[in-house]
Amino acid sequence: MDISRRNLLKASGLSVATFAVTGSGAIAAVTSDSKTDERVKKLMPKSTGKRVVIVGGGWGGLTAARNIKKKAPDAEVVVLEKRAVFTSCPISNEWIVGEIPLDFLTRDFFTGAKEYGYTMLQTTVTDIDRKSKTVATANGTIDYDYLVLSPGIRYDYSSWFGDDAQMSERCRQECPPALIQGSEHAALKKILEEFDGGNFIISIPDGAYRCPPAPYERAALIANYFKKNDIDGKVIILDPKESPKPKGPGFMAAYKELYGDIVEYHPNSSVKGVDLDKKELKVAVTDADLKTTMKTLKFDAANLIPVNAASELIEKAGVSMGRAGWGQMKAPTFQTKADERVFVIGDSVGGYPYPKSGSIANGQGHIVADQIASRINGAKELANVTLPINTCYSMVNDTEAISISASFSLVDTKDPQGNAIKKIKGSKKANNKRSSALGKGTHNWFQGMMTDIFGA
Ligand SMILES: Cc1cc2nc3c(=O)[nH]c(=O)nc-3n(C[C@H](O)[C@H](O)[C@H](O)COP(=O)(O)OP(=O)(O)OC[C@H]3O[C@@H](n4cnc5c(N)ncnc54)[C@H](O)[C@@H]3O)c2cc1C
Repeated sequence: MDISRRNLLKASGLSVATFAVTGSGAIAAVTSDSKTDERVKKLMPKSTGKRVVIVGGGWGGLTAARNIKKKAPDAEVVVLEKRAVFTSCPISNEWIVGEIPLDFLTRDFFTGAKEYGYTMLQTTVTDIDRKSKTVATANGTIDYDYLVLSPGIRYDYSSWFGDDAQMSERCRQECPPALIQGSEHAALKKILEEFDGGNFIISIPDGAYRCPPAPYERAALIANYFKKNDIDGKVIILDPKESPKPKGPGFMAAYKELYGDIVEYHPNSSVKGVDLDKKELKVAVTDADLKTTMKTLKFDAANLIPVNAASELIEKAGVSMGRAGWGQMKAPTFQTKADERVFVIGDSVGGYPYPKSGSIANGQGHIVADQIASRINGAKELANVTLPINTCYSMVNDTEAISISASFSLVDTKDPQGNAIKKIKGSKKANNKRSSALGKGTHNWFQGMMTDIFGA
């Protein structure tokens, strides 16, 4: 069935208005009309051949938007974003513990759109039809010539609650994972502020997840908060891995030297069940002989991070792979294997050694901008691709941080069938010695990223 009918007939309130901030700075109201025969509204007039639709106005999507316009001024670039305001996940742990104000993390979506000439539409994307090159949203449909998907992650609570969506949502609200920007972070901050002692558990998921060092940084900063506010609490980290990764030595040194009696790190410990009424976790602990025992652990507050998966839009677009539905791409351009006009970037990407980080999403945004601008300007795929680098800082107290950087290179290899392919290989360098110079570097890095994405 036609995507626009299929999805928009589901939307009952068809007289809603959506607001577009265009490159000229004008705000246009696109109003759907419940009396139309088709009951399907177009968000924008038909494309004239150079339209790039970007799904997700986060780290990857906004980088791509700015740089496509910069390199191909004739392109018509439209960003579809469901949030009303940009809030950053990077640096949010410092906000949760009260070290920085909220406006440090937030930006408006309008200034960058006006300055760089792309169009920002606040709406929720509901489906993607590659055959008709159409994106369906809660407010109408839009066609594209090129599509960039940067919608981030979703949670998969099924190993704890099966298909019980209500329990999953209850867990998200009562024990917020705070990997997706917005209410989860604010709720976790409130839980911390109201915490008056006991076990504060942070659980790390199995598999790939958004910002691998973020839970370890959060543990250190919460311990620091307990110490400063004289709270008789323990921060208990449950980690399926045998040591923190990345920056393990730096985190372990901070836990021991700064928070010896506050942080308890439990390796090889995977949460298998959650009882929200009793405030109990069932934890599988594997010992050195690979023998697993089940333990019950009580919590007074918890930051439970479930298994991560790609946004469901990646599967809806038919460009996903595996159970987690990560986007399946061709190295190194982020063009999907299934469709040369569709690109996936950011945390939705799978099959590469890239960590799920804002730094990498920004680098990937630059790569797809080069690729798409080159095509719009009449050339073919760019042969030379500058691979992104990852720079990642983690605060361990008010002023000091540790860091890691990673670079990537393209190597020639063969697939299982013996065909010549190119693979991306990474190499990392960690700085595990905490220092206030790295603490300053954390904020400098963040401000640099914000300038690259939003301008001065
Ligand atoms: C606590 C924490 C700390 C972190 N610290 C760092 C750090 O120090 N350094 C670092 O490099 N990275 C860090 N990260 C990781 C970083 O935040 C992510 O890797 C980055 O945001 C990924 O960019 P993205 O574009 O893929 O996704 P996002 O930035 O999440 O953007 C996705 C956008 O898509 C929108 N969207 C989703 N679905 C729809 C839909 N259906 N319709 C319309 N819009 C939609 C979302 O609202 C969102 O704005 C941290 C993450 C966390 C949680």
